[in-house]
Amino acid sequence: MSLIFKKPKKSCADRNCPFHGALPVRGRVLEGVVVTSKMDKTIVVERDYLQYISKFMKYERRHSRIPSHNPPCVDAREGDHVTIAECRPISKTVSFVVVEKLGEK
Ligand SMILES: [Zn+2]
Repeated sequence: MSLIFKKPKKSCADRNCPFHGALPVRGRVLEGVVVTSKMDKTIVVERDYLQYISKFMKYERRHSRIPSHNPPCVDAREGDHVTIAECRPISKTVSFVVVEKLGEK
């Protein structure tokens, strides 16, 4: 593993886990808040950011939603503030994995 994250206390048998399986992470590392955790081992992370609009010389709030893999050892829930890291595509839409919980609701 090329990036260093705090290893979760729990263990798991998930192949697609960056800590206990065989999933390399590389690329972008983002932070966001979990908005949906109803899927099996997949969550949706919403990220707020500011985009500068030069015509009005001010910032506009935007957000994006990133589906991410949620390994059982991390077990992020709705409302949690998490770090996600880019990995190989796990499914059609998922190419990020939750690597760390920064704060729980
Ligand atoms: Zn794990």
